[in-house]
Amino acid sequence: MDAISDAAETESQYQLEIKKLNREIRRLKKDNELLRILNDQVSRTQIYIQKGSNQRIFYIRQLLKSSPYILILTDSKLQTVMTSEVYFQYENGYDKEELKRGVPLRSALRTLLSEEQLDDFMEKCQRVLRGGEMEPYLVQAYHNNEKYDFQITIRQMLQNDEIIGLNIIFVEMTAIIDALERAKQADTAKSNFLANMSHEIRTPMNAIVGMSEFILRDCDNPKAKSYASMIRSSAKTLLSIINDILDFSKIESGKMEIAESYYRFSSMINDVVTLARVRLHEKPIKLIVDVDPSIPDRQFGDEVRIKQILINLLGNAVKFTHTGSITIKVEPDTRYYDGQYHLIFSISDTGIGIRSLEIKNIFSTFVQVDTKRNRTVQGTGLGLPISRELVHMMGGDLRVESEYGKGSTFTFDIRTRSDDPTPVGNMKFDQDNVPVADVFRATFTAPDASILIVDDNDLNLQVAMGLLSPYKCKMCSATSGADAMIKFSTGRYDLVFMDHMMPVMDGVETTGMLRKMPFGETTPVVVLTANAMKGAAEEYRALGFQDFLSKPIDPGELEEILLRHLPNNLIVREKAGEQETCNYPGGGNSGMNGADGVNASASGVSAEGGVSAVVNQTEVEGSDDLIDVKTGLRYSMGKPDFYRKMLEIFASGNHLKEINDLFLAQNWENYMIKVHALKGIAMTIGAVNLSEKAKKLEQAVRNGSIDYVTANHDDLCELYQRVVDLINSGELQF
Ligand code: ADP
Repeated sequence: MDAISDAAETESQYQLEIKKLNREIRRLKKDNELLRILNDQVSRTQIYIQKGSNQRIFYIRQLLKSSPYILILTDSKLQTVMTSEVYFQYENGYDKEELKRGVPLRSALRTLLSEEQLDDFMEKCQRVLRGGEMEPYLVQAYHNNEKYDFQITIRQMLQNDEIIGLNIIFVEMTAIIDALERAKQADTAKSNFLANMSHEIRTPMNAIVGMSEFILRDCDNPKAKSYASMIRSSAKTLLSIINDILDFSKIESGKMEIAESYYRFSSMINDVVTLARVRLHEKPIKLIVDVDPSIPDRQFGDEVRIKQILINLLGNAVKFTHTGSITIKVEPDTRYYDGQYHLIFSISDTGIGIRSLEIKNIFSTFVQVDTKRNRTVQGTGLGLPISRELVHMMGGDLRVESEYGKGSTFTFDIRTRSDDPTPVGNMKFDQDNVPVADVFRATFTAPDASILIVDDNDLNLQVAMGLLSPYKCKMCSATSGADAMIKFSTGRYDLVFMDHMMPVMDGVETTGMLRKMPFGETTPVVVLTANAMKGAAEEYRALGFQDFLSKPIDPGELEEILLRHLPNNLIVREKAGEQETCNYPGGGNSGMNGADGVNASASGVSAEGGVSAVVNQTEVEGSDDLIDVKTGLRYSMGKPDFYRKMLEIFASGNHLKEINDLFLAQNWENYMIKVHALKGIAMTIGAVNLSEKAKKLEQAVRNGSIDYVTANHDDLCELYQRVVDLINSGELQF
């Protein structure tokens, strides 16, 4: 029984086991199915991935095959990995298989780039490989004697932020570069054409201006005169346009050059301010000059071009301002200092201003804004672009700030150098543009003082003596260094005025000789200079002078010098008004050159007469650019009779012939002395443009630019003659 029941129990256990096993089999079957499905999915994914990557490889192959650029992929050792098909157009001795296996990058490009270009290229590749950045750059390559222009770009290939090689692209730009070159050549040809044309037009234009001048002078018919006047003024406008075009085409064709030399900053500012005054004419505008006194006076730069910019900006300020003020400000820019000196110039006006929308256009060529409002204002729209280009050439920039209806400020900076820190000092300028109304009145006399004036130029002597005449001192003149020594040895002087530039013995040498003579050491000698230096007293002191006085002589400065150097006991303060006399030359003072000196108070002209004549001044139309009466009167203390005499002496002088003879003899040293003297004399009588021209010629001789002198000497003579003709015509009224 027990055995039976044992067997039954075993049987049921087997059954249980079988059931379990069956369950296990069913589970395994399910898992198997799952695995199969998974396996199936993996295989399908694999196929998909394979397909995708084949696709990508296919695309990459297509890219390399059809790319118009040379593409080269390298590994981190700069061995080639892949190249585009185009690469093989530039036969290089390698086949595709070789390149695939990898060749050094340098030799892969050996037939395309020169050794020098390869050195540079490999250096750049190494830099990019080390993590550096590289801007695309241009090379001109030769292959089989053909020229190719490539733009090369070198980029890193990154994998997980690691540089694994380089991606190098050569874009062939031969056609574009050639087209650009052709366009540039066409542009240069256009600019050359413009420059030549402008040059050619200038010659007949000068004749037109000159001839209309003759008609105005010689013809009595008022109608013909008015036509001639219109011809002349239109011709002048055309000439100024042509000059702008000439400059502009020079800039465009790259022929504009900056010619640097040493110049006096104070003298440059003086000239610009004088010209601005002339242009202001009767406009009720205050001209304010604010020059930082610490600016070194001796500068190295292109004075002519800096002046051109200033004259243009000031000219615009005058054109577009009807009331208020114009300020010219110059200050050093202390932010930069790299052995060079930066100066910031600004010209502000209280004029019509520029609309903000139009501001960005005004530096474009031939652009004039607000044309409705400015339709009567002449111009070419070239002044600002030329000025800006010139400023760029001098290492700076020209900017503008403006408020419509309120005014504008043009600011520019330029790089300049100076090896002499002597500052310009306080430059004095009249605050108002009414210089002639400020008739100078001498505040004292010095009848017992003896003064020796040394100048080789007759007119300069007359001017100095005329200006000294209200002081009633004894005056003696000498026309050369030798003459000065004779006069000095036979008379006693309280003060000597000595011209700087004289032929044979100049002012410095003569003063040196005087110093060795009795009383020579103790007699103050003041140098007369046409270089208008302010704050240069130190320099002149070192040369042996006690002081200096700029020509044209400013009556106020002359008085300061007299007060500074005449002994106090010789100064007589009289009641106001009593000293208002001016003994102009030729006015009966025949003994001026006498060794004993002559009391110069004999024949005077009343100051009141001078003032009223100025108030009633009428300008001869168009004559102001030959002679600016205001400037002339200013240097004649506002006294018309004195001024008239100055003009007469100028017109009767022999200077033109002397200058021309020296030019023909190519005696440059004396030529320079004569044009230097002319610079001062011309300014004294108000012939501002003639003075300017003389100055340029003086500078040209100084810089050895004889070509410039040869090209411009005739212009100077012509202008000189026109000034003389105008004086002789009697048409100049004041
Ligand atoms: P333009 O010879 O015609 O004066 P510019 O290039 O010098 O040529 O000036 C271009 C234009 O910019 C002028 O026509 C004028 O409209 C404007 N402009 C220049 N300067 C000033 C200023 N100071 N005030 C107002 N407008 C100005």
